[in-house]
Amino acid sequence: MSEQAALLNLPEPAEMRDWATENGILILAHSYQDGFLQEAAHFVGDSLELARQAAAADAKAICFCGVHFMAETAKILSPEAEVFIPDMAAGCSLADSCKAEDLIAYQEHLTTKLGKRPVTIAYVNCTAAVKAACDIICTSGNARQVVESIPGDQPILFVPDRHLGGWLNETLGRDMILWNGACEVHELFSVETLREQKAAHPGAIVISHPECPKPVRDESDHILGTAGMLKLVKASAGETFIIGTEANMIYRFEKEAPQNTYLPAPGASCACNLCPHMQRNTPEKLWAALHNRGPQVEVAPEHMDAARRSLERMLAII
Ligand code: SF4
Repeated sequence: MSEQAALLNLPEPAEMRDWATENGILILAHSYQDGFLQEAAHFVGDSLELARQAAAADAKAICFCGVHFMAETAKILSPEAEVFIPDMAAGCSLADSCKAEDLIAYQEHLTTKLGKRPVTIAYVNCTAAVKAACDIICTSGNARQVVESIPGDQPILFVPDRHLGGWLNETLGRDMILWNGACEVHELFSVETLREQKAAHPGAIVISHPECPKPVRDESDHILGTAGMLKLVKASAGETFIIGTEANMIYRFEKEAPQNTYLPAPGASCACNLCPHMQRNTPEKLWAALHNRGPQVEVAPEHMDAARRSLERMLAII
């Protein structure tokens, strides 16, 4: 029996998954969840990959180990399914930074100011209400294609992540108007510590998420979303990588590409690279959620169709 399961007096992750299967529940876990939850899941991935897998699997009940906006996305793409989450309070600083009513007011302000309504692109890390108020969604993996699908003379408002939006403006030569939001985890990566790590590990390859601030991105060899990171490490052999994203991602890298060495940025001694919202989901809460089939995540009916349309516009171009 694993130490964690024994200490918590819980079934092993595989036993939880088998129990869920027998009871018609699909367990999804984001790559930023801890190893126990990843092992218990039927699928591990980024939020959109997971939501799409749930829709493709035609799941009737989904337990989403992730944060609230991710479970909402699963509900939007699988409206007939019961969707529940181990801890209803698992939120997201980035999603919280963009309230739908503020977005709508800003869209109206910009329309008056520019004499033309801007196209609003929303990074998938936002609430269902924001998805409903925007025109098209993007992920960190497809953001470039989504932005490039909009004509160059069309004003664009990009929400909610100013770092991802800034990186897109730099690399695509665009001048999108940026919402002033950020992820509290990626915002805390320190460029000074990263420089020290690079000096201590010459030859290490730095891969950072585009949600990182520009100084950290500028010190990186690759800027990639989580799916792009996984692809790169799987194609590499015997490399040392410094990973500029949530540190639990390394669990997945070590499992799927064990031939490499992974060092979390800004440093193993610092827990600020763990998302406090993701950490609210624990093995005990997962086990309780499976038995209770709750707490359930609902999407307001008035947001459902518009949010799905924004997601479908993205899916049509990738
Ligand atoms: S890592 Fe950042 S963007 Fe992801 S859920 Fe946590 S706070 Fe939100």
